[in-house]
Amino acid sequence: ETDMVLHSEEVLSRLVEQGYEAYWVGGCVRDELMGRPVHDMDITTSALPEEVEAVFERTVPTGIQHGTVTVLSGAYAYEVTTYRVEGAYENHRRPAQVEFVRELKEDLRRRDFTMNAIARALDGTIVDPYGGTDDINSRVVRCVGSASTRFQEDALRMVRCIRFASVFGFRIAYRTWKGLLEEREGIRYIALERFRVELEKLMEGSRPSRGLHLLHRSKLLAFAKAPFTYGPDEPMVTLVDDVPPEQIAVRFALLLYACGVSGEEAQVHLREWTFANAARERIAGILRFGEAVFAMNDSLPQKEQWVVIVLRFGKEIAGQWLNMAEQIVKRNPAAISASILDHGTAWIEQMGIYRLSELAISGKDLLEITGRKGGPWVGEIMDQLLLKVASSHMPNDREALINEVKRVTSTHE
Ligand code: ATP
Ligand code: MG
Repeated sequence: ETDMVLHSEEVLSRLVEQGYEAYWVGGCVRDELMGRPVHDMDITTSALPEEVEAVFERTVPTGIQHGTVTVLSGAYAYEVTTYRVEGAYENHRRPAQVEFVRELKEDLRRRDFTMNAIARALDGTIVDPYGGTDDINSRVVRCVGSASTRFQEDALRMVRCIRFASVFGFRIAYRTWKGLLEEREGIRYIALERFRVELEKLMEGSRPSRGLHLLHRSKLLAFAKAPFTYGPDEPMVTLVDDVPPEQIAVRFALLLYACGVSGEEAQVHLREWTFANAARERIAGILRFGEAVFAMNDSLPQKEQWVVIVLRFGKEIAGQWLNMAEQIVKRNPAAISASILDHGTAWIEQMGIYRLSELAISGKDLLEITGRKGGPWVGEIMDQLLLKVASSHMPNDREALINEVKRVTSTHE
């Protein structure tokens, strides 16, 4: 982080040397004032985009029509944006047009919340015309200017408001919350992708249940047609907080489970909500894993059925489902079989291997041993072998596996 700060100081001083104004602004200034780790550093400047490009050797015209040029320095990238205001807003979304302005204060006024409208100069001087520092100290999220107007301009700000309140544990200023309730229907004009980005940040925070509750109470979830609308007395949702934040997929899976969403439904909704494929597969996989566990019957010993499910979904999903299950039983002890909770982890460990590629024999070996032509039978026998080894009915030993192949293929004939 110190390296990132040093390089950004260099960017600021180069701009200042050329006679422009330049400040750190937004999230990085806020996070520093709050003593939180800074993850990216945005810079605001009086220089026009072409002027910024002329000052630095390595630049990328990231959003040049919005005044943003990315400046590369060392291993770091900084977004340098010209002082600007936004053009006319249409349909509750941020406008395509922007207008460059001369004054820092005007640029700060277009920003969403007072805590995000603070600039900091190289010498440490703070420019804070809207009282952001005071609001940080009293732990309040407050719009810059009239809340209704700001939420009308860009409805996503309502979700950001709740995200910041949730992640920082701030309260929402009375007029800001009132404005949010007045404008909440505007959320339906917002692209689900932008909502999803904020939702993921909210879910990574220390107490996502608070944000989820606010999203529910404000009806933003309902107006955005979210798949996870729930009653205010849904106690299972608060358990999301007890899942470690780095297990974001488990948090989402638990939320969806608490809202009665199935694995199949989750696939559809999460696609619509533009979740990345990997995240979607993981979340839906955890739910489907649970459904497979719930569908266990008395035909086979529990452990055998468990091994089959773990092989189908993989070790990682199995572990994640167990983490989710641990939370679910806190509210509903009867929901999940106690012996699975007690032994599930140990049974996974005892499997030793989890994938066909880990078997001491390959499909190609099968063809050589039997002298037969390939076909679906190869996969079937490989699956049988994997199941036998994973459920400790035979060792993962090449010799033993070859004998087993000979035995089953001869009895099949
Ligand atoms: P994070 O810690 O999540 O990055 P952030 O406040 O830096 O939080 P960004 O989306 O990176 O959020 O935006 C950077 C800055 O741009 C904000 O601090 C704010 O000043 C301004 N901003 C971002 N989104 C909006 C918006 N929808 N309306 C007005 N200003 C915004
Ligand atoms: Mg940021």
